[in-house]
Amino acid sequence: MAKRMRGIIASYGLTMGIVKRWLHEDIPIRTDWLRDEEVAGELKAIDAAFSRYREKLSAKEVTSPLMQSLREAHIELISDPFLIDSVHKRIQEEKMSADRALDTTIRIMAAQLEALEDPYLRERGTDYRDMGRSLLYELKGLPVPRLDHLSSPCILVTEELAPSEATELDKANVLGFTSDRGGATSHTSIIAQTLGIPALVGMKRLSREVNDGDFIILDAENGELIINPDVDTIQEARQKMEVGRAETVRLSLEKAEKAVTADGHVVDVMVNIGGLDDLTVGILAGAEGVGLFRTEMLYMELDHFPTEDEQLAVYRQAAEALQGNVLTIRTLDIGGDKRLPYYAFPREANPFLGWRALRFCFDEEIIFRTQLRAILRASAYGNVRLMLPMVVGLDELARAKRMIEEEKEKLAERGRAFNPSIPVGIMLETPAAVMLAEELAHACDFFSIGTNDLTQYILATDRGNNRVAGLHSPYHPAVIRAIKQGVDAAHRAGISCGMCGGFAGNLRALPLLIGLGVDALSVPASVIPKLKEKIRHITLKEGRRLAKQALGLSATAEIMQAVISQEQDIRQKGES
Ligand code: PEP
Ligand code: MG
Repeated sequence: MAKRMRGIIASYGLTMGIVKRWLHEDIPIRTDWLRDEEVAGELKAIDAAFSRYREKLSAKEVTSPLMQSLREAHIELISDPFLIDSVHKRIQEEKMSADRALDTTIRIMAAQLEALEDPYLRERGTDYRDMGRSLLYELKGLPVPRLDHLSSPCILVTEELAPSEATELDKANVLGFTSDRGGATSHTSIIAQTLGIPALVGMKRLSREVNDGDFIILDAENGELIINPDVDTIQEARQKMEVGRAETVRLSLEKAEKAVTADGHVVDVMVNIGGLDDLTVGILAGAEGVGLFRTEMLYMELDHFPTEDEQLAVYRQAAEALQGNVLTIRTLDIGGDKRLPYYAFPREANPFLGWRALRFCFDEEIIFRTQLRAILRASAYGNVRLMLPMVVGLDELARAKRMIEEEKEKLAERGRAFNPSIPVGIMLETPAAVMLAEELAHACDFFSIGTNDLTQYILATDRGNNRVAGLHSPYHPAVIRAIKQGVDAAHRAGISCGMCGGFAGNLRALPLLIGLGVDALSVPASVIPKLKEKIRHITLKEGRRLAKQALGLSATAEIMQAVISQEQDIRQKGES
């Protein structure tokens, strides 16, 4: 019998296919006690497995920043003398087999870490399990299963997919994926959006409830999953997919046109990128500029802080490829859940409230100033804007601007070209920035609303934690009013207010966002054609009416209902 389940949309799209479960399966372990004469052999086997694994890690080719950071984390863990000693002791003193000693040690150490409050240490627990599994495969001489070796198209059903695993996904064979844990704005979800793979997360126990070979419809347009649907349901979904495909072809023909509402209001549609590859895809999808370049991705790709020239090479190429369209380069937003393999971040009880983004940059001034110079120099080659993340006060903005001016002076002395009036803007992503929006708007050149963090901080809900995913809604009246406050402050000061958080790519929310006055939407490339199409079918007038209504409501569900009702009205009008 067909079973329907609901999940959190991580990446839009409708797809169907055969289930392939990607579980971190238990590997068979020898459980009887060792005889004395076996101990030496087991010690030798475990030492050999450690050194083979270390060699493999060092020789491993890394093709993405996240794979690189995972490798570094594993090298650090495997070199921990406490781990090796504990395994040895279990073999020598407790007479456990090598695989059992390793498995037990890893489980105990991971569980101890995972029980801690500190999210950074909890993450290390996951790293321990990951590394332990790889070591066990090594010890047993078994091949490590890899995601990029899937041989036929499937829907991947996982307990949890690490960002590094998501970057390995082979688009040809992964039609979509689900994960039991995770939130809509986690970095795994952002990678799925960039790859254009439909995904649902927060599926609770799905990976334990389906079997390989089950057939599922993954409807990441409506947040629903259907397990073993009947023929009629499959037929219906297939038709929807065909309509969707025809739409994509039609939209691709119109993608280069500007996005103008039916009553003549122009909305800038831009792309969010993490590097030059994303930019190419974005331009092909019809982006009219880059609203957010997450430069931390560039830092994560390397094994050192990128030099001024290394950064300039990338920023310049992006600026030139955009041929006069805007390139918004956000300064380094590291910390929180993003780390660098070559930098020892301190352990913090609350990393998202800690040493992140500008706070890190102010303390690590040389790193920040190097990036400022690279961005300034890139501004000689195109329409570059500089954007500061995680601003909470005017003093921070003033300090960053002072540093920008000082770096301009240095570049001028060195005879380097740059745009002396490069626009400097801020992400509006903290409640403090919204409350100070009036003053901030007079002190900078543009705003861009980061709804992922803004929602997280206004509602005090971790953006990556599926237990509170139900609360992490940008439709919450407090978030909607904050957006309005930011937009109004920007407009009163005569500057533009865009949006680059995940809410900007929510097609259903589009009329509301336009009605609230958001000037530009910056989204993953895969969303652009549909977003432009939808803009052409709505009016600013309807959007304003909806925004007015939403601003008068005081519950998330009421606002969502208003948005849905208005969508139905528009559809009915289109059909009549
Ligand atoms: C946001 O917070 O909405 C945003 C766009 O920035 P990031 O997702 O990189 O934190
Ligand atoms: Mg943010």
